[in-house]
Amino acid sequence: MMRRMFTACFLVLTLPALARQNDSLLIRAIADEILVNGKAYENLRVLTKQVGARLSGSPAMYKAEAWGKKTLEQSGAEKVWLQECMVPHWVRGGKDEAYIAGQPKNTPLDVLALGNSVGTGAKGVKAPVVLINSFDELEQRKDEVKGKIVFYNYKFNNKFVKTFNAYGDAGKYRGMGPSRAAKYGAVAVLVRSMSNAADNNPHTGSTVYNDSFPKIPAAAVGLQDADKLAALLNSNKSATVYLKTLANMLPDTIGHNVIGEWKGSEFPEQIITIGGHLDSWDPAEGAHDDGAGCVQSIEVLRALKAIGYKPKRTIRVVLFANEENGLRGGTKYAQEAKAKGEQHYFAMESDEGGFTPRGFGITATPEQLAKIRTWTPLFEPYGVFELEAGYGGADIGPLNQLFKTPLAGLEPDSQRYFDIHHARSDVFEAVNKRELELGAVNMAALIYLVDKYGL
Ligand SMILES: [Zn+2]
Repeated sequence: MMRRMFTACFLVLTLPALARQNDSLLIRAIADEILVNGKAYENLRVLTKQVGARLSGSPAMYKAEAWGKKTLEQSGAEKVWLQECMVPHWVRGGKDEAYIAGQPKNTPLDVLALGNSVGTGAKGVKAPVVLINSFDELEQRKDEVKGKIVFYNYKFNNKFVKTFNAYGDAGKYRGMGPSRAAKYGAVAVLVRSMSNAADNNPHTGSTVYNDSFPKIPAAAVGLQDADKLAALLNSNKSATVYLKTLANMLPDTIGHNVIGEWKGSEFPEQIITIGGHLDSWDPAEGAHDDGAGCVQSIEVLRALKAIGYKPKRTIRVVLFANEENGLRGGTKYAQEAKAKGEQHYFAMESDEGGFTPRGFGITATPEQLAKIRTWTPLFEPYGVFELEAGYGGADIGPLNQLFKTPLAGLEPDSQRYFDIHHARSDVFEAVNKRELELGAVNMAALIYLVDKYGL
């Protein structure tokens, strides 16, 4: 009896254990390929240094698309094409300027106009400033803002260990702040940068005007300057600020998602999408946001090919257009997929920086999530321990909305991301080669497991 029980248990344990061992060996081969022969870092260098900033509608956007097409072809995609979509064409128009007017001299403020904002014109605006710490305070003091510049000084909440939660919490002041102030007659808005960095670089990002109110100029202020201005206003002194931005929204223009495909052998109609967004803000090189996600996605394809893997399902790498100030690329990709009757089986995005991977955020049914979680031990040797419910990525979000496609987003360590996010400091030198590659290793491992076992 004892013997029979032992035999039965032995069999039950052995078969999955054997499969697990094979998976572990295959993932080891993927990791070796990426960590020893990886191309992601060199690809990122070319994208950031030879193309650079690539905001939607800019000449560099087209250069980046050409880079993406060529790089996907060189990385083994069987078919590469550009999918057209209309994108907004916002331009900064020149150097943004601001200062606190003073006697005997002015105190400069380091500012960046918010994406999609209107400019002040060449003369600029000069007006007294009202310090507002929250939307609740704005409502209480709404009679004080007419003809003035509203300065939102809402801080990143440092109690959040995951900094994306602080970003989510503060983001509404950049997104909705200008229109909410315009509603009460403000002439311009300054926003404390969405960051907890120790330096003074301003962090741009999109604002979204409410068409019911006048569109007023809006700019982000570096944190040291925000503290300086707040200290002045908190000491009951009045302050007059001058702001000049030449920002301007031009008519929509043609942009493209860049798509590289590798046909599946068993279920070619089932599509697995891996991507990042190709556009980036204009003051920097968009290295972490989101050059990293683009080159990691390409690396997944390259490495799986290099080790001789044959996918059951069709794998597509998509470099999405226009995430930053419109999400037109992700929207178009899902809409066209729907119109063509495609089957979108799974989608993954990397758009939280090229830092040390920690986990994945997963939007899926409880059963799918439970299945993915059984694979956790396979990721652990490569630094991923957390497979948590929620999110995935902005560009792949529309696939979930239209197809209920399960989503996964790479979640790297978030402590340094908002130091550089949308700021001048988001440059190639801020990316570590090994951290970038380890992200790609874990992405490739999850793609392999989903392709092999299904969800
Ligand atoms: Zn991004």
